[in-house]
Amino acid sequence: PRRIYGERDNSYGLDLSNEHTLAQLQAHMQSACNIEFDIASLTAVAVNHQSPHSVLNPSDHRDVVGQVSFIDAGSVGEVISTSIAAQNTWQQVPAATRAAMLRRFADLMEEPSRMALLMMITVREAGKTLPNAIAEIREAIDFCRYYADETERLNLSTPVGTVVAISPWNFPLAIFVGEVVSALATGNTVVAKPAEQTSLIAHLAVSWLYEAGVPTDVLQLVLGAGDVGAALTSDNRINGVIFTGSTEVAKRINSLLAARDDNPVLIAETGGMNAMIVDSTALPEQVCLDVLSSAFDSAGQRCSALRILCIQEDIADHVVEMIKGAMDELVVDNPAFLATDVGPVIDAEAQENLLSHINTLKQIAPYHEVAIKSDAPNATFVAPILFELKDLSQLKKEVFGPVLHVVRFAAHELNDLIDQINKKGYALTHGIHSRIDSTIEQITDRIEAGNVYINRNIVGAVVGVQPFGGHAMSGTGPKAGGPFYLQRLSRIHRWDTPV
Ligand code: NAP
Repeated sequence: PRRIYGERDNSYGLDLSNEHTLAQLQAHMQSACNIEFDIASLTAVAVNHQSPHSVLNPSDHRDVVGQVSFIDAGSVGEVISTSIAAQNTWQQVPAATRAAMLRRFADLMEEPSRMALLMMITVREAGKTLPNAIAEIREAIDFCRYYADETERLNLSTPVGTVVAISPWNFPLAIFVGEVVSALATGNTVVAKPAEQTSLIAHLAVSWLYEAGVPTDVLQLVLGAGDVGAALTSDNRINGVIFTGSTEVAKRINSLLAARDDNPVLIAETGGMNAMIVDSTALPEQVCLDVLSSAFDSAGQRCSALRILCIQEDIADHVVEMIKGAMDELVVDNPAFLATDVGPVIDAEAQENLLSHINTLKQIAPYHEVAIKSDAPNATFVAPILFELKDLSQLKKEVFGPVLHVVRFAAHELNDLIDQINKKGYALTHGIHSRIDSTIEQITDRIEAGNVYINRNIVGAVVGVQPFGGHAMSGTGPKAGGPFYLQRLSRIHRWDTPV
């Protein structure tokens, strides 16, 4: 039988209920595995590196997670040359051999001691909560096994060539790994550039991919800032780009590639302005739970996170009060504590951008804000906040953090509401809470979206089960973790390729 990639056991073999802090988890894993961790001395060094800088924990800047040195943008040409030279040999490696490497890498990530290390780095470098860190690792493993099976099933013979994989910090392992292994699985050589904020975890993943058998010239890691990404995507010798990040950067890459005559491949997965439409037949308690996890989990730093909650006016007072009450129970603290629901945002720049939006809206809209528990110096927390807007024109752009915007609508305004959501230009993830089938159909038929979730939360797409990705300002497709992804990274010569 086919493996189900989405199976999630969030305890992952660990008794998390008895653990209260990251330090205890670390001690637990050390005694279980008899392995000494020294993650404070983690170092990631790029070729032709600049002098190293310290990576600081966004929950508490006194915690130095490791050291990273960045490549000079002027040196990326050599890296691309190495990839191009490796392409011919790599594409002749049978699909089954490449798939075996991916499965071996997945097995390595599943070893308890390595998993604990990944969890700790994810928490300390990216500010993720422990449940989020576990889900992130699970997703990375799912991508490896899913694309390994897919490349064997499809047996695609001609890769695109040298592919640049650029990833964001908000899923520093899962998206990074998903991009890299999809391109490797299909026989492409890869130059991977993770977000500058999350270089350590990417470095660790690549070192284990080498251990799993991927040659070092076939996969190269380039650590650096946005100018390095720009230098890589401007190199006219690359054959494709897999990008996940903001719509603005995707547009820039798209115009660079479009200016070339040879039509390089672009897969871009970008932002969203995701809405949940709740009618008067919805179950308030379920709505409340799903709104909280969709809007505030991962401190709202998911492309699929809920930004706009649309509630039918008949039940709005009651449901909004319940949501505010539930928000007051959120623990906003260092994610090293298991009780924490909401960790920090990634850095001071993200915090400033969010606070600027919040302070502007506070002048014009009623709001409900949660207290921050942590008092760590220089930590980059943003208090979860709910704004009640008069209408959607008050929200101008994607707000990438724990900020929920609520609008009310009358039943006869439903189509107009959907049109206003569509006019924002994004088409990523939306949700519906209703017990009327015809209303659910009316919304799903009219709304522009990659994924629509019904009577549940709108985050946490599962590889192989809910392929993820949008269109319009949200991306180019094909959906990650779905059956059409690998074809985009290959030249299809045969009409009998199964899909
Ligand atoms: P970002 O600023 O666009 O950065 C993403 C990546 O692009 C980083 O590695 C960044 O490097 C690099 N980069 C920056 N400028 C570049 C350039 N000119 N050329 C090439 N690469 C460049 O996005 P982010 O702030 O990290 O991530 C948040 C955004 O990602 C949100 O809009 C979110 O919705 C979106 N996202 C979408 C999905 C999806 O699946 N649809 C998933 C996750 C996130 P540096 O870090 O060094 O600047």
